This record gives sequence, structure tokens and C-alpha cells, in this order.
Amino acid sequence: MIPTKIFENKHVLVGITGGVAAYKACEIIRYLVTQGADVRAMMSKNAQHFITETTIETLCNYPVYTEMFPDKKFAATHHISAADWSDVAVFVPATANIIGKMANGIADDFISTCALALNCPVVIAPAMNQNMWLHPAMKKNIETLRKWNYFICEPETGFLAEGYSGVGRLARPEYLSQYLYRAAHPSPGSLSGKTVLITAGRTEEYLDPVRMFTNRSTGRMGFALAWEAFARGAEVVLIHGPGNLTPPVNVQSISVTSAKEMHTAVKANIDNADIFISAAAVADYQPEHFSKQKLKKTERDFTIQMVRTPDILKQMAEKKKAHQQFIGFAVETESPVENSRKKLIKKGLDMIVINNPLINGAAFAGDTNVVTLLDKTRRESLKIAYKLDVSKKIFEFLLK
Ligand code: C5P
Repeated sequence: MIPTKIFENKHVLVGITGGVAAYKACEIIRYLVTQGADVRAMMSKNAQHFITETTIETLCNYPVYTEMFPDKKFAATHHISAADWSDVAVFVPATANIIGKMANGIADDFISTCALALNCPVVIAPAMNQNMWLHPAMKKNIETLRKWNYFICEPETGFLAEGYSGVGRLARPEYLSQYLYRAAHPSPGSLSGKTVLITAGRTEEYLDPVRMFTNRSTGRMGFALAWEAFARGAEVVLIHGPGNLTPPVNVQSISVTSAKEMHTAVKANIDNADIFISAAAVADYQPEHFSKQKLKKTERDFTIQMVRTPDILKQMAEKKKAHQQFIGFAVETESPVENSRKKLIKKGLDMIVINNPLINGAAFAGDTNVVTLLDKTRRESLKIAYKLDVSKKIFEFLLK
């Protein structure tokens, strides 16, 4: 899950209903707490069969709402005060029962009554048996909630508690946190109707079937940009090199290996893009010859002839349409601003993001970055920040 400061001091209400996936709510609460959120939780009666109030109370450091009329803990209108307190709410897992009640305005226990009183963005993460999920009644209820602008973080296909495979598994935490990020975003919809094409990660240039040239990029920056674009309502196409990050949900994800493959994938998608962000650490050179057989060791030294790979961003910029905006990344260790400004002009870009891998907390592999944003007239140096928060600033700068 990509860390962010967007949840800092945000009030997040977590609603837990009665499914076996209830235990997974703990991980989401933990994530939100580590990201600075103030978390409160409510549990249905059935949820308490699967997980205890004590566990959730300990994670939130606050008493859990369970009863409409508790003995002492809260005032009588606490279902309203909990709803009013919330900046964002998430129902995880959301059973067929709570979804049915929410879609039909039924308020017959604490959690459903509080749900009806909510006046903030709401994420619903359903989890149930596949027949229940595919039932027409469920489809109708989900459509109703979608129409009312609830964020539905759809269940996944996989191994169900019943012992067989099907659709209905709670979405993985990475997806849920991505939806929460979207729900909590201060500029939702600022990219709606736009298509954002992003390249991310490293490329691998093979010498033989087992040896290759590559770099340390993991793709975190590009993946964070994809989260950010999705949170702002864009259609997102993410072309990424090898790595083990989970591609974001609701993003068209295209996996490639070499610079040449990335070039082909970008060419196929560039015409539809309003914004192209080239965050990939594309190899500049590849071995001239690829050996189909593993190269044999000999007693002699040898030289590998390297040839240039296509400069994808430069080639795309040469055919850039008037409405398109292109953002490049620059890794510079010497005179970064001067060199990057030259690159901005030479490649015909709208904006460049400079990072210096020699600064602590910048560039490759980690969760943070330290960047300077540059266009033809402006320059903004950012302090060290999570890559997701850097992404937020990149779009703010571009859209300003
Ligand atoms: O010229 P330089 O490699 O420093 O430019 C970096 C920018 O160009 C990055 O945005 C990177 O994604 C892109 N690039 C590319 N194709 C290459 C090399 C870099 O698109 N072969």
C-alpha cells in the first residue's frame, strides 16, 4: 500500500459487517492509523462473531460503536455524531445485508442507521459468496449506490471461504487503500474526462536468455502517479516494466520488458492520451546482439557492443498534438536545473520533474522522493515527501 499524508488528521469511520473477511478490516485500520488518520469503527452484531470488539477498539484507540442504545459509553444520538464526525467512511467488509439496507434506506441497527446519516464520501468493499454477489437484487442495489456516488471497491475472483473459487473475495488492501485515497482526495474529478498515459519502472535489455542490463527503478513513482490520476477521475493507462508492485485497480495496465516493447506500447496508446507522463527509467542502451543461447564462459575478456534504444518521450513529443501535455522525468546529479531546462526545451515538454538520486530519500526504490518541478517559466522545489504526495503536487503544478 503506497503511503500518503492525505489521511493526516482525517476522520475515517470504518464499518465492519458480518463476513469472514472481517479480520481483514484490521489491516485497513492499521494502514489508516499509520497514515495519520483518526479512525473510529462500528461493528454489526454479526461482525462480532468473526472478530472481537476489543481487537478493533485497540487498533482505533477508541470505543467501538455497536449498539443503538448502549448502557453508558455514548450519548443517545451517537449514530448522528459518529456520522457528522466522519470525513470519509468505509464499509469493510460490506455484506449483502448492509448493502441491501443502504440501497433501500433501511435503518434498523447502529451501523445501518449511521450509514443513512453519513454526509461524506463512502467506500463500500463488498465480500460475499459468488451467487449472492451475482444475484440480480445485489446488482440492482450496487447500481443504486453507484448512482448515489458511493465508491464501490469491487470484490475479486479467487478462493472463497466456502472452499471453491469464484467472485466475491474482499478486494485486496492495495485496492481498498487506493479507493480510500480517492474518496479522501481534495480535488476529485479534476481530471475527469481526461486520459492519462503513464510509463513506469525499469526496462530490461537482454544479452542472452539469463543476462540483462537494467537499473534500480521499481516503478513506485509511476504507480503513485497512476493512483493520483485515478483519484482525480481520469482514465489511466499504465505501461510498466518488470517489478513486483500490484498494478492499481481500474487502470489499464500493460506489462513490458524492454525499451523497444515500451516504445511499441506507448505508440499504440499515445493518440488517446491527453496527458503523457514518462516516469519510466528507460534503458538508454541495449546490447547490439541478443544470443538465443546462454553465452559460454571462456578464459578471454570480451566487449559488449551497446546500441541506443529509442528515446520514447522525444519521439512522442515530436508528434505532440496541441491539446496534449507531456511530462518528463530527469535524473540529474550535476547542474540539475540548467540541464533539465535544456531537456524541457529540446524534448518539447510541458513540464519536467527533476530528481537527484544522490539526495537522501530521493528517486529510486524508496517510498519518498525529493523533486523540483519545472516548466518554461516556473520552478518549484519540494521537500522530501511520499511519492503519492509528490504525485499530487505534480498534477497541481500541471493543472495550475
Ligand atoms: O534524456 P533523459 O534520458 O535524461 O530523459 C529522461 C526522460 O526521458 C524520462 O522522462 C524518461 O522516461 C524518458 N526516456 C524515454 N526513452 C528513453 C530514455 C528516457 O522516454 N530511451
